[in-house]
Amino acid sequence: MNESEKQINDESFRDRLGTVTEEGERIWVYPQKPKGKFYNARTIVSIILLAVLFGVPFISYNGHPFMLFNILNREFIIFGMAFGPQDFHLFVISIIIGIIGIFLFTVVWGRIFCGWVCPQTIFMEMVFRKIEYLIEGGAAKQRALNKAPWNGEKIFKKALKHAVFFGLAFLIANALLAWIIGIEGVKELASAPIASVSGPFIAMIIFTAITYFFGAYFREQVCTVICPYGRLQGVMLDQNSIVIAYDYKRGEPRGNRKKNEETDLGDCIDCNQCVVVCPTGIDIRNGTQLECVNCTACIDACDDVMTKINKPKGLIRYASKEEIETGVRKIFTPKSIGYSVVLFLLFGLLTFLLATRTEVELSILRTAGLMAQEQPDGRISNLYDVKITNKTFTKLYTKLELIDVDGDINIVGGNVDENGRLIVPPHQVADAKFFVVLPKEEIKSITIPIKIGVAANGKVIDVIKTSFLGKVQGHKK
Ligand code: SF4
Ligand code: SF4
Repeated sequence: MNESEKQINDESFRDRLGTVTEEGERIWVYPQKPKGKFYNARTIVSIILLAVLFGVPFISYNGHPFMLFNILNREFIIFGMAFGPQDFHLFVISIIIGIIGIFLFTVVWGRIFCGWVCPQTIFMEMVFRKIEYLIEGGAAKQRALNKAPWNGEKIFKKALKHAVFFGLAFLIANALLAWIIGIEGVKELASAPIASVSGPFIAMIIFTAITYFFGAYFREQVCTVICPYGRLQGVMLDQNSIVIAYDYKRGEPRGNRKKNEETDLGDCIDCNQCVVVCPTGIDIRNGTQLECVNCTACIDACDDVMTKINKPKGLIRYASKEEIETGVRKIFTPKSIGYSVVLFLLFGLLTFLLATRTEVELSILRTAGLMAQEQPDGRISNLYDVKITNKTFTKLYTKLELIDVDGDINIVGGNVDENGRLIVPPHQVADAKFFVVLPKEEIKSITIPIKIGVAANGKVIDVIKTSFLGKVQGHKK
């Protein structure tokens, strides 16, 4: 076995994390600043995503936030549509779609989410890391600064960096909070006495502390130690998944050579540039590893090297293991087709449920087990249960009226105004009972069908068909 084969077959790196020594101590990573087309593209994507994070909470629609995920009050607004606890089934289906979607996406595209969309990668690589380069300089300067004694320059740079990090963490925490309690909630947090907003205040402190800790200290350990998605790669990826891969067939045997020198070596000149840019401290030439967050930095670094030595780009590229071995890229595998079918069906179900979803849900049922009663004025009454779910932002004033029959409706219980309208607050459910009272001449059989029209805020929203029991117990007609 030659040196190159030994390197390829050496799997000892899998025994421990790339950023932890054999003794279990953390190895601080000083990645070199990447540059190249993928880094530029990721920067643009990050700017768009950060604009969404900070900008969307300021958008309102019909006087309400355009997007809101208030988990505490179980209030959700998605693209201006309000969802509440009554929509729990939609929430469950969406979660299942999300999980299967992640599985499908990962099976086909590997950890593309981690590199391009994950908030931790974006905050770390596109915000905190850029500021660090700006204040402390590149990887070599950072390393030297950390080794240097505490002098004026070091104190100044470290204090400035951490002050900026903390300020950023505070801003990010407030942006995240604005998605939960709305921008008005965040404004209130800034102006109201702390005692009256203690919940959001504590949440803001926790969000700030976590963001600062992740950005300033914990860094890539979030991806390599904490993140469950990263841990699941082993079961989700297969040999057809497109990951960031080193083309060992083209690159090996690796080795240094003089410019334009004819050798039997592969295209990898063993310059280590792909390693020194890696923010998780791994060597992608060892193969797919759970630490790899698909950040593309090694692709840019290697493409740059290939350009300099007049070789085609793409020694490290998006490719599957199968593709590297056989040159064939397979996206439609039984696994990806299976996930796609399930996903398609669930999407269909969710679309159907959303299309048929109404803003007010209504149920009227005759109270079980109760017979008709004769009133002192001789008319006959039946008792009914009404349940109204208000999924809108506005208070509903609901009026019940008999249609095509002469009689009265008397609501008993529930929150009723002076006009006999049942009041249903936004995002709440109102339960009440009401009597339908009919004169005897309307009752021509033991059971008669009746229709009850329901109007909300002056607009008829439904007509419920139910039955009226005409026979009073012990009463002879
Ligand atoms: S950057 Fe490219 S050429 Fe240099 S070591 Fe990595 S794979 Fe080899
Ligand atoms: S191996 Fe490459 S893609 Fe993976 S984390 Fe390191 S630099 Fe990023």
